[in-house]
Amino acid sequence: MTEDEIAQRKMQFLYALRSKGVTDKAVLGAMEAIDRGPFIRGLFATRAYEDMPLPIACGQTISQPSVVGLMTQALQISPRDKVLEVGTGSGYQAAILSKLARRVYTIDRHRRLVREAREIFDALDLTNITAITGDGSFGLPDQAPFDRILVTAAAEDPPGPLLAQLKVGGIMVVPVGQSDAVQSLIRVHKTETGLDYDELRPVRFVPLLEGLGKDT
Ligand code: SAM
Repeated sequence: MTEDEIAQRKMQFLYALRSKGVTDKAVLGAMEAIDRGPFIRGLFATRAYEDMPLPIACGQTISQPSVVGLMTQALQISPRDKVLEVGTGSGYQAAILSKLARRVYTIDRHRRLVREAREIFDALDLTNITAITGDGSFGLPDQAPFDRILVTAAAEDPPGPLLAQLKVGGIMVVPVGQSDAVQSLIRVHKTETGLDYDELRPVRFVPLLEGLGKDT
């Protein structure tokens, strides 16, 4: 692709985000600043600016950009926030979070995905992200509590350890439902008196699985 073609595709990319409901200026700014291209390796690299989920290593996917935008927008991140992302995948979502939050922790059960995401974070000089290999269903007790938690794999229920690691006043966004069906994107507000849930939209995510992944 020539530079002009890339610039044109990026414009169409931002237009697609707006037309699908990503309207928060800070989120759009972060998505303009973070090029999706470097997060997609191999055959699918040329399709980076399409509003589609695409395959990445270890049989996983990089999420659809408009869904990334809507989930980020739903988190209502402020610049002082400490954010946990469960499901690093390509690292694209974490990179966007890093432009909006003070500190981002991201965890994936695949060692290879974490290693490759770290390489991109280093190359882009995104120094406020820590990427960790592990089972994110249990969160990161050492770094808790978090202002915001984003789960980018579908859980049957919002995981209890993650709810426990959310600050009072905090927000968690998580796809909930069976892995072979359409799931609901749920936003949880933790208040002084309990948890308030609202259902945002239907989504389709790979499942939140137990334990460490077998790397490919
Ligand atoms: N946020 C990613 C991105 O920007 O590319 C996309 C995430 S992909 C849809 C879901 C990811 O969740 C996969 O990389 C998968 O390995 C990871 N995952 C599934 N279960 C997990 C668990 N229990 N702990 C940590 N990561 C998990």
